Amino acid sequence: ASPPGSASPAERARATDLARELEEHAYRYYVLDAPTVSDAEYDQLMRELTALEERHPDLRTPDSPTQKVAGSFSTLFTPVEHLERLLSLDNVFDDDEFHAWSARAARESEVDAWLCELKIDGLAVDLVYEDGRLVRAATRGDGRTGEDITPNIRTLSSVPTRLRGTAVPELLEVRGEVFFPTAKFAELNASLVEAGGKPFANPRNAAAGSLRQKDPRVTAGRPLDMIVHGLGAHRGFDVDSQSGAYARLAELGLPVSHRFEVVATIPEVLGYIHRWGDARHDVEHEIDGVVVKVDSFPLQRRLGSTSKAPRWAVAFKYPPEEVTTKLRDIRVNV
Ligand code: NAD
Repeated sequence: ASPPGSASPAERARATDLARELEEHAYRYYVLDAPTVSDAEYDQLMRELTALEERHPDLRTPDSPTQKVAGSFSTLFTPVEHLERLLSLDNVFDDDEFHAWSARAARESEVDAWLCELKIDGLAVDLVYEDGRLVRAATRGDGRTGEDITPNIRTLSSVPTRLRGTAVPELLEVRGEVFFPTAKFAELNASLVEAGGKPFANPRNAAAGSLRQKDPRVTAGRPLDMIVHGLGAHRGFDVDSQSGAYARLAELGLPVSHRFEVVATIPEVLGYIHRWGDARHDVEHEIDGVVVKVDSFPLQRRLGSTSKAPRWAVAFKYPPEEVTTKLRDIRVNV
């Protein structure tokens, strides 16, 4: 075996192959809205590359898929720079990994408020409001540059084009997830097949494919919805916690989830995670896990971010489920 730090030629070749494969899957997923492997398979490839790079840090280059926000933007849309970067999330897959993550986060300072919320399986969208008016909406893209989808977002009834109230912030950039309600998914696929089109592999792809349309009238005909779960650049929006931000965003008329909880202890966080794991099908959209965030903004700032993800938040991913039998008779892309 090679000494730690230096990879064997076989390991080096494997890392190159994994990076290439992950990039190809990300392109199919983010740009074509047509993945060819399941999310669990993609996550497994990413874990293999992460483990290889942990064993041999010389394999970890700044452009490795483990180090950057996956995603790209297509030439179908005008590129737009986000005011603040949209990051990804680090993942944990079981209680032990979660304990290790929370211990690292709490090392910085005692955390007495953890915000737990559902991880919506949709696509990330950035909204910018100036003096209360929606001026721009964009996909996440590579985290710095996204695709301008403003006319498409304007067709979503849950997204206000003007914020409510008189004391609106001068500038407000928020991030959230656009999703396709699960109950409407089978109906959409049936109508696509009937019209001679190709069905979507899952509600997440249906959301992405419906939103990233050149003609916003197609988007308008799809029952898309959005939930806001993050804050970007802002002026005149003074809050000191994630939960405080959600309360204020709701007052402004933005769609925030009512299912989040702020708890004080790790057993309570794990209770939330496992409770929603059992109840994941009771939600109107698909969820692929739970996101846990340090609630305090000053502490979030102190923890900061890596090039890819905040250190103050993590996604606890649920184990994959069997493909639903509803798709049995339909040829799909996965
Ligand atoms: P991610 O989906 O694991 O997590 C980051 C994203 O979660 C954020 O960008 C945000 O938009 C979203 N999110 C949902 N609910 C949230 C909440 N409550 N709070 C904060 N963020 C929330 O990471 P990613 O970088 O977006 O994508 C990687 C994942 O995408 C993979 O793990 C895989 O599941 C999937 N993927 C699949 C393929 C494929 O070929 N099947 C290819 C690429 C990516």
